[in-house]
Amino acid sequence: MCVAEIHLTPVAIPDKPLLNCKGVHQPYALRTVIEVICDDGTVGLGESYGSIKALDGLRRAAPALIGLDPFHLHELKSRVIAALPGGGGINAKSAVADHKLTDVVTSAFEVPCLDIQGKLLGRPVADLLGGAVRSGVPFSAYLFFKFAAHIGEASDEWGEVLTPDAMVGEARKMVETYGFRSLKLKGGVLHPGLEIETILKLREAFPNHPLRIDPNGGWTVETAINIAHKLENVLEYLEDPVIGMDQMAKVAAATPIPLATNMIVLEFDQIAEAFRTNAVKIVLSDHHYWGGLRASTHLGKICETLGLGVSMHSNSHLGITLAAMIHVAAATPNLSFDCDTHYPWTGVDVIEGEPFAFRAGKLDLPIGPGLGVSLDRQKLAVLSAHYEETAMKERDDTAYMKLFDPAYERRVPRW
Ligand SMILES: [Mg+2]
Repeated sequence: MCVAEIHLTPVAIPDKPLLNCKGVHQPYALRTVIEVICDDGTVGLGESYGSIKALDGLRRAAPALIGLDPFHLHELKSRVIAALPGGGGINAKSAVADHKLTDVVTSAFEVPCLDIQGKLLGRPVADLLGGAVRSGVPFSAYLFFKFAAHIGEASDEWGEVLTPDAMVGEARKMVETYGFRSLKLKGGVLHPGLEIETILKLREAFPNHPLRIDPNGGWTVETAINIAHKLENVLEYLEDPVIGMDQMAKVAAATPIPLATNMIVLEFDQIAEAFRTNAVKIVLSDHHYWGGLRASTHLGKICETLGLGVSMHSNSHLGITLAAMIHVAAATPNLSFDCDTHYPWTGVDVIEGEPFAFRAGKLDLPIGPGLGVSLDRQKLAVLSAHYEETAMKERDDTAYMKLFDPAYERRVPRW
Protein backbone atom coordinates (compact mmCIF):
# COMPACT_ATOMS: atom_id res chain seq x y z
CA MET A 1 0.00 0.00 0.00
CA CYS A 2 1.08 3.57 -0.50
CA VAL A 3 0.12 7.20 -0.10
CA ALA A 4 -2.21 8.17 -2.95
CA GLU A 5 -3.42 11.66 -2.03
CA ILE A 6 -2.58 14.45 0.40
CA HIS A 7 -4.93 17.29 1.32
CA LEU A 8 -3.69 20.38 3.14
CA THR A 9 -6.29 22.75 4.58
CA PRO A 10 -5.10 25.95 6.23
CA VAL A 11 -7.48 27.05 8.98
CA ALA A 12 -7.91 30.10 11.20
CA ILE A 13 -9.03 29.32 14.76
CA PRO A 14 -10.73 32.11 16.73
CA ASP A 15 -8.35 33.03 19.55
CA LYS A 16 -8.55 35.21 22.67
CA PRO A 17 -6.57 38.47 23.25
CA LEU A 18 -3.90 36.75 25.38
CA LEU A 19 -0.82 38.76 26.32
CA ASN A 20 2.86 37.89 26.19
CA CYS A 21 6.11 39.84 26.25
CA LYS A 22 5.87 40.62 22.51
CA GLY A 23 2.25 41.74 22.33
CA VAL A 24 -1.16 40.13 22.18
CA HIS A 25 -2.71 37.17 20.36
CA GLN A 26 -4.56 38.21 17.20
CA PRO A 27 -8.22 37.25 16.61
CA TYR A 28 -7.09 34.05 14.91
CA ALA A 29 -4.41 31.40 15.36
CA LEU A 30 -3.31 29.77 12.09
CA ARG A 31 -2.95 26.00 11.64
CA THR A 32 -2.93 23.48 8.80
CA VAL A 33 -5.04 20.32 8.86
CA ILE A 34 -3.38 17.45 7.00
CA GLU A 35 -5.10 14.42 5.46
CA VAL A 36 -2.94 11.63 4.04
CA ILE A 37 -4.99 9.13 2.04
CA CYS A 38 -3.69 5.70 1.06
CA ASP A 39 -4.59 3.74 -2.06
CA ASP A 40 -6.78 1.42 0.06
CA GLY A 41 -8.77 4.42 1.36
CA THR A 42 -7.19 4.56 4.84
CA VAL A 43 -6.94 8.18 5.99
CA GLY A 44 -4.32 9.56 8.39
CA LEU A 45 -4.80 12.93 10.10
CA GLY A 46 -2.28 15.53 11.14
CA GLU A 47 -2.08 19.15 12.24
CA SER A 48 0.75 21.63 11.97
CA TYR A 49 1.53 25.33 11.79
CA GLY A 50 -0.33 27.59 9.39
CA SER A 51 2.30 30.29 8.91
CA ILE A 52 3.39 31.12 5.36
CA LYS A 53 6.73 29.30 5.43
CA ALA A 54 5.33 26.19 7.12
CA LEU A 55 2.40 25.99 4.72
CA ASP A 56 4.68 26.54 1.74
CA GLY A 57 6.99 23.74 2.97
CA LEU A 58 4.05 21.38 3.43
CA ARG A 59 2.80 22.18 -0.08
CA ARG A 60 6.24 21.68 -1.65
CA ALA A 61 6.89 18.37 0.13
CA ALA A 62 3.44 16.80 -0.31
CA PRO A 63 3.85 15.74 -3.98
CA ALA A 64 7.12 13.96 -3.11
CA LEU A 65 5.26 11.71 -0.68
CA ILE A 66 2.85 10.22 -3.21
CA GLY A 67 3.72 6.53 -3.50
CA LEU A 68 5.34 6.39 -0.05
CA ASP A 69 4.69 3.31 2.10
CA PRO A 70 3.22 4.82 5.30
CA PHE A 71 5.34 2.42 7.39
CA HIS A 72 8.59 3.76 5.86
CA LEU A 73 9.17 6.75 8.10
CA HIS A 74 12.93 7.03 7.46
CA GLU A 75 12.13 7.32 3.76
CA LEU A 76 9.46 9.91 4.62
CA LYS A 77 12.16 12.07 6.21
CA SER A 78 14.58 11.57 3.28
CA ARG A 79 11.89 12.55 0.79
CA VAL A 80 10.99 15.68 2.81
CA ILE A 81 14.65 16.75 3.02
CA ALA A 82 15.13 16.18 -0.73
CA ALA A 83 11.95 18.15 -1.51
CA LEU A 84 13.04 21.15 0.58
CA PRO A 85 16.59 21.99 -0.51
CA GLY A 86 18.01 24.76 1.62
CA GLY A 87 15.66 23.89 4.48
CA GLY A 88 15.54 27.05 6.56
CA GLY A 89 13.17 27.93 9.36
CA ILE A 90 9.43 28.51 9.55
CA ASN A 91 9.08 31.61 11.66
CA ALA A 92 8.76 35.24 10.69
CA LYS A 93 11.89 37.39 11.08
CA SER A 94 10.44 38.95 14.24
CA ALA A 95 10.39 35.60 16.09
CA VAL A 96 12.94 35.08 18.86
CA ALA A 97 13.36 31.37 18.10
CA ASP A 98 12.99 29.44 14.88
CA HIS A 99 12.13 25.87 13.96
CA LYS A 100 13.71 23.79 11.21
CA LEU A 101 11.38 23.51 8.23
CA THR A 102 12.43 19.93 7.44
CA ASP A 103 11.69 18.77 11.00
CA VAL A 104 8.35 20.59 11.01
CA VAL A 105 7.29 19.09 7.67
CA THR A 106 8.56 15.60 8.56
CA SER A 107 6.51 15.71 11.75
CA ALA A 108 3.44 17.04 9.96
CA PHE A 109 3.38 13.95 7.74
CA GLU A 110 4.77 11.43 10.26
CA VAL A 111 1.74 11.82 12.53
CA PRO A 112 -0.78 10.95 9.74
CA CYS A 113 1.42 7.98 8.74
CA LEU A 114 1.37 6.72 12.36
CA ASP A 115 -2.41 7.29 12.39
CA ILE A 116 -2.63 5.12 9.26
CA GLN A 117 -0.37 2.44 10.76
CA GLY A 118 -2.51 2.33 13.90
CA LYS A 119 -5.71 2.06 11.87
CA LEU A 120 -4.28 -0.81 9.79
CA LEU A 121 -3.10 -2.64 12.92
CA GLY A 122 -6.16 -1.81 15.01
CA ARG A 123 -3.92 -0.27 17.70
CA PRO A 124 -3.59 3.21 19.22
CA VAL A 125 -0.61 5.32 18.12
CA ALA A 126 0.76 5.11 21.69
CA ASP A 127 1.27 1.36 21.06
CA LEU A 128 3.49 2.19 18.07
CA LEU A 129 5.63 4.33 20.39
CA GLY A 130 6.26 1.60 22.93
CA GLY A 131 2.87 1.59 24.63
CA ALA A 132 1.21 3.86 27.17
CA VAL A 133 2.84 3.98 30.60
CA ARG A 134 0.06 6.09 32.14
CA SER A 135 -3.70 5.89 31.74
CA GLY A 136 -4.44 9.60 31.90
CA VAL A 137 -2.11 12.36 30.70
CA PRO A 138 -2.04 15.32 33.12
CA PHE A 139 -2.12 18.86 31.74
CA SER A 140 -1.36 22.20 33.36
CA ALA A 141 -3.62 25.27 33.36
CA TYR A 142 -2.09 27.81 30.97
CA LEU A 143 -2.76 31.19 32.56
CA PHE A 144 -2.52 34.39 30.53
CA PHE A 145 -2.92 38.04 31.37
CA LYS A 146 -5.41 39.25 28.80
CA PHE A 147 -7.53 42.05 27.46
CA ALA A 148 -11.29 41.75 27.82
CA ALA A 149 -11.93 41.79 24.08
CA HIS A 150 -10.50 42.01 20.60
CA ILE A 151 -10.65 45.39 18.87
CA GLY A 152 -14.30 46.30 18.23
CA GLU A 153 -15.72 43.27 20.02
CA ALA A 154 -17.60 42.73 23.28
CA SER A 155 -15.80 41.16 26.25
CA ASP A 156 -15.22 37.42 26.05
CA GLU A 157 -16.28 35.06 28.82
CA TRP A 158 -12.90 35.42 30.62
CA GLY A 159 -12.97 39.22 30.77
CA GLU A 160 -9.97 41.46 31.47
CA VAL A 161 -7.13 39.91 33.47
CA LEU A 162 -4.46 42.53 34.15
CA THR A 163 -3.91 42.32 37.92
CA PRO A 164 -2.67 39.64 40.36
CA ASP A 165 -6.16 39.30 41.86
CA ALA A 166 -7.81 38.95 38.45
CA MET A 167 -5.26 36.23 37.62
CA VAL A 168 -6.21 34.30 40.75
CA GLY A 169 -9.81 34.52 39.49
CA GLU A 170 -8.79 33.18 36.07
CA ALA A 171 -6.90 30.34 37.75
CA ARG A 172 -9.92 29.47 39.92
CA LYS A 173 -12.13 29.26 36.83
CA MET A 174 -9.57 27.09 35.01
CA VAL A 175 -9.16 24.76 37.97
CA GLU A 176 -12.91 24.54 38.69
CA THR A 177 -13.75 23.89 35.02
CA TYR A 178 -10.94 21.53 34.05
CA GLY A 179 -9.52 20.26 37.33
CA PHE A 180 -5.93 21.19 36.48
CA ARG A 181 -3.41 20.24 39.19
CA SER A 182 -0.57 22.52 37.98
CA LEU A 183 -0.55 26.19 37.02
CA LYS A 184 1.62 27.85 34.40
CA LEU A 185 1.66 31.63 34.08
CA LYS A 186 2.66 33.36 30.85
CA GLY A 187 4.87 36.12 32.20
CA GLY A 188 6.97 38.99 30.88
CA VAL A 189 3.76 41.02 30.50
CA LEU A 190 3.39 43.11 33.67
CA HIS A 191 6.14 44.77 35.71
CA PRO A 192 8.16 41.97 37.40
CA GLY A 193 7.01 43.12 40.85
CA LEU A 194 3.40 42.49 39.84
CA GLU A 195 4.24 39.10 38.36
CA ILE A 196 6.03 38.08 41.59
CA GLU A 197 2.91 39.22 43.50
CA THR A 198 0.76 37.19 41.10
CA ILE A 199 2.75 34.00 41.69
CA LEU A 200 2.68 34.53 45.47
CA LYS A 201 -1.10 35.06 45.37
CA LEU A 202 -1.50 31.91 43.25
CA ARG A 203 0.59 30.04 45.83
CA GLU A 204 -1.68 31.28 48.59
CA ALA A 205 -4.85 30.37 46.70
CA PHE A 206 -3.51 27.01 45.46
CA PRO A 207 -1.07 25.76 48.11
CA ASN A 208 -0.67 22.31 46.54
CA HIS A 209 -0.47 23.20 42.82
CA PRO A 210 3.01 23.20 41.29
CA LEU A 211 3.60 26.68 39.77
CA ARG A 212 5.62 27.79 36.75
CA ILE A 213 6.21 31.09 35.00
CA ASP A 214 7.33 31.56 31.39
CA PRO A 215 8.24 35.12 30.29
CA ASN A 216 9.58 33.93 26.89
CA GLY A 217 12.99 35.48 27.49
CA GLY A 218 11.36 38.77 28.47
CA TRP A 219 13.71 39.47 31.41
CA THR A 220 17.33 40.58 31.70
CA VAL A 221 19.70 38.29 33.59
CA GLU A 222 19.59 40.69 36.54
CA THR A 223 15.78 40.77 36.61
CA ALA A 224 15.57 37.00 36.24
CA ILE A 225 17.99 36.34 39.12
CA ASN A 226 16.14 38.83 41.31
CA ILE A 227 12.79 37.16 40.55
CA ALA A 228 14.27 33.70 41.07
CA HIS A 229 15.48 34.70 44.54
CA LYS A 230 12.03 35.99 45.46
CA LEU A 231 10.32 32.83 44.18
CA GLU A 232 12.74 30.24 45.52
CA ASN A 233 10.80 27.30 47.00
CA VAL A 234 7.68 28.58 45.21
CA LEU A 235 8.27 27.56 41.58
CA GLU A 236 8.34 24.04 40.19
CA TYR A 237 10.43 25.40 37.32
CA LEU A 238 11.29 28.68 35.66
CA GLU A 239 10.80 28.63 31.89
CA ASP A 240 12.97 30.67 29.51
CA PRO A 241 13.50 33.65 31.85
CA VAL A 242 16.16 35.02 29.46
CA ILE A 243 17.24 34.54 25.85
CA GLY A 244 20.36 32.62 24.79
CA MET A 245 22.33 29.68 26.15
CA ASP A 246 24.94 31.90 27.92
CA GLN A 247 22.34 34.01 29.67
CA MET A 248 20.30 30.97 30.69
CA ALA A 249 23.47 29.43 32.14
CA LYS A 250 24.11 32.59 34.18
CA VAL A 251 20.61 32.50 35.66
CA ALA A 252 20.81 28.74 36.24
CA ALA A 253 24.06 29.18 38.18
CA ALA A 254 22.41 31.74 40.46
CA THR A 255 19.29 29.83 41.52
CA PRO A 256 18.34 26.36 42.73
CA ILE A 257 15.07 26.62 40.73
CA PRO A 258 15.41 24.35 37.67
CA LEU A 259 15.23 26.18 34.33
CA ALA A 260 13.07 24.81 31.52
CA THR A 261 13.12 25.78 27.86
CA ASN A 262 11.33 25.67 24.57
CA MET A 263 13.45 28.52 23.21
CA ILE A 264 17.13 27.53 23.45
CA VAL A 265 16.90 23.76 22.98
CA LEU A 266 14.79 23.22 19.89
CA GLU A 267 16.87 20.62 18.05
CA PHE A 268 18.93 17.57 18.98
CA ASP A 269 22.14 19.47 18.09
CA GLN A 270 21.50 21.94 20.93
CA ILE A 271 21.14 19.41 23.76
CA ALA A 272 24.87 18.84 24.26
CA GLU A 273 25.69 22.53 24.78
CA ALA A 274 22.72 23.02 27.12
CA PHE A 275 23.94 20.06 29.16
CA ARG A 276 27.60 21.18 29.12
CA THR A 277 26.74 24.71 30.23
CA ASN A 278 24.16 23.55 32.79
CA ALA A 279 21.76 26.04 31.21
CA VAL A 280 18.62 23.93 31.54
CA LYS A 281 17.32 21.09 33.64
CA ILE A 282 14.06 20.49 31.75
CA VAL A 283 13.50 20.34 27.99
CA LEU A 284 9.99 21.05 26.73
CA SER A 285 9.21 18.64 23.95
CA ASP A 286 6.89 19.50 21.06
CA HIS A 287 6.46 16.94 18.31
CA HIS A 288 5.64 19.65 15.74
CA TYR A 289 9.24 20.87 15.62
CA TRP A 290 11.27 18.05 17.17
CA GLY A 291 10.59 15.98 14.05
CA GLY A 292 7.57 13.91 15.07
CA LEU A 293 6.23 11.58 17.72
CA ARG A 294 9.07 9.07 17.46
CA ALA A 295 11.66 11.86 17.64
CA SER A 296 9.90 13.13 20.77
CA THR A 297 10.25 9.75 22.45
CA HIS A 298 13.95 9.76 21.43
CA LEU A 299 14.27 13.18 23.05
CA GLY A 300 12.75 11.70 26.20
CA LYS A 301 15.34 8.92 26.19
CA ILE A 302 18.26 11.34 25.70
CA CYS A 303 16.99 13.55 28.54
CA GLU A 304 16.67 10.50 30.78
CA THR A 305 20.28 9.54 29.99
CA LEU A 306 21.52 13.05 30.79
CA GLY A 307 19.44 13.38 33.93
CA LEU A 308 17.29 16.14 32.40
CA GLY A 309 13.54 16.38 32.91
CA VAL A 310 11.00 16.49 30.07
CA SER A 311 7.81 18.48 29.90
CA MET A 312 5.65 19.48 26.92
CA HIS A 313 5.25 22.81 25.11
CA SER A 314 2.12 23.96 23.30
CA ASN A 315 0.94 26.55 20.78
CA SER A 316 -2.70 27.34 19.99
CA HIS A 317 -4.01 24.09 18.51
CA LEU A 318 -6.94 21.85 17.65
CA GLY A 319 -7.91 18.33 18.72
CA ILE A 320 -5.76 16.50 16.16
CA THR A 321 -2.65 17.98 17.75
CA LEU A 322 -4.07 17.30 21.22
CA ALA A 323 -4.66 13.64 20.33
CA ALA A 324 -1.05 13.33 19.10
CA MET A 325 0.21 15.03 22.29
CA ILE A 326 -1.75 12.58 24.47
CA HIS A 327 -0.38 9.53 22.62
CA VAL A 328 3.25 10.65 22.80
CA ALA A 329 2.94 11.87 26.40
CA ALA A 330 1.37 8.56 27.42
CA ALA A 331 4.26 6.70 25.76
CA THR A 332 7.13 8.81 27.20
CA PRO A 333 8.02 7.21 30.57
CA ASN A 334 10.01 10.16 31.94
CA LEU A 335 7.57 12.90 30.92
CA SER A 336 7.01 13.59 34.57
CA PHE A 337 5.56 17.12 34.49
CA ASP A 338 2.02 18.14 33.56
CA CYS A 339 1.92 19.13 29.86
CA ASP A 340 1.08 22.59 28.53
CA THR A 341 -1.99 23.03 26.35
CA HIS A 342 -3.85 26.01 24.87
CA TYR A 343 -6.92 23.82 24.24
CA PRO A 344 -9.19 25.51 26.85
CA TRP A 345 -8.57 28.85 25.11
CA THR A 346 -9.41 27.50 21.65
CA GLY A 347 -13.07 26.64 22.17
CA VAL A 348 -13.60 25.18 18.67
CA ASP A 349 -12.37 22.05 16.97
CA VAL A 350 -12.37 20.08 13.72
CA ILE A 351 -12.79 16.64 15.23
CA GLU A 352 -16.03 14.69 15.07
CA GLY A 353 -18.17 14.50 18.18
CA GLU A 354 -17.60 16.23 21.50
CA PRO A 355 -14.36 18.13 22.13
CA PHE A 356 -11.84 16.60 24.54
CA ALA A 357 -13.08 16.84 28.14
CA PHE A 358 -10.51 17.14 30.94
CA ARG A 359 -11.17 15.16 34.10
CA ALA A 360 -9.11 16.20 37.13
CA GLY A 361 -6.83 17.99 34.65
CA LYS A 362 -6.20 14.78 32.73
CA LEU A 363 -7.09 13.39 29.32
CA ASP A 364 -7.38 9.70 28.52
CA LEU A 365 -6.11 8.24 25.27
CA PRO A 366 -8.80 8.74 22.62
CA ILE A 367 -10.69 5.50 21.99
CA GLY A 368 -10.09 3.77 18.67
CA PRO A 369 -7.14 2.82 16.49
CA GLY A 370 -4.55 5.33 15.32
CA LEU A 371 -4.92 8.79 16.85
CA GLY A 372 -8.54 7.96 17.71
CA VAL A 373 -10.00 11.14 16.20
CA SER A 374 -11.78 11.77 12.91
CA LEU A 375 -12.45 14.90 10.92
CA ASP A 376 -15.78 16.73 10.98
CA ARG A 377 -15.89 18.22 7.49
CA GLN A 378 -18.46 20.85 8.43
CA LYS A 379 -16.34 22.12 11.31
CA LEU A 380 -13.28 22.08 9.05
CA ALA A 381 -15.16 24.10 6.41
CA VAL A 382 -15.99 26.81 8.96
CA LEU A 383 -12.37 27.25 10.08
CA SER A 384 -11.12 27.01 6.50
CA ALA A 385 -13.55 29.80 5.51
CA HIS A 386 -12.15 31.94 8.36
CA TYR A 387 -8.67 31.41 6.88
CA GLU A 388 -9.77 32.37 3.37
CA GLU A 389 -11.63 35.45 4.63
CA THR A 390 -9.03 36.87 7.00
CA ALA A 391 -6.17 39.01 5.74
CA MET A 392 -4.07 37.47 8.52
CA LYS A 393 -1.61 35.01 7.03
CA GLU A 394 1.20 35.35 9.58
CA ARG A 395 1.30 35.74 13.34
CA ASP A 396 2.38 39.19 14.53
CA ASP A 397 1.48 39.84 18.17
CA THR A 398 3.40 43.13 18.23
CA ALA A 399 1.59 44.66 15.24
CA TYR A 400 -1.75 43.73 16.77
CA MET A 401 -0.71 45.20 20.15
CA LYS A 402 -0.02 48.52 18.43
CA LEU A 403 -3.73 48.71 17.58
CA PHE A 404 -4.46 48.72 21.33
CA ASP A 405 -1.48 50.94 22.22
CA PRO A 406 0.19 52.83 19.35
CA ALA A 407 3.20 53.61 21.60
CA TYR A 408 3.88 49.90 22.23
CA GLU A 409 7.28 48.69 21.08
CA ARG A 410 8.68 45.21 20.78
CA ARG A 411 11.51 44.80 23.28
CA VAL A 412 13.14 41.49 24.22
CA PRO A 413 14.10 41.62 27.01
CA ARG A 414 11.30 43.91 28.10
CA TRP A 415 12.04 44.13 31.83
MG1 LIG B 1 7.68 28.57 26.67
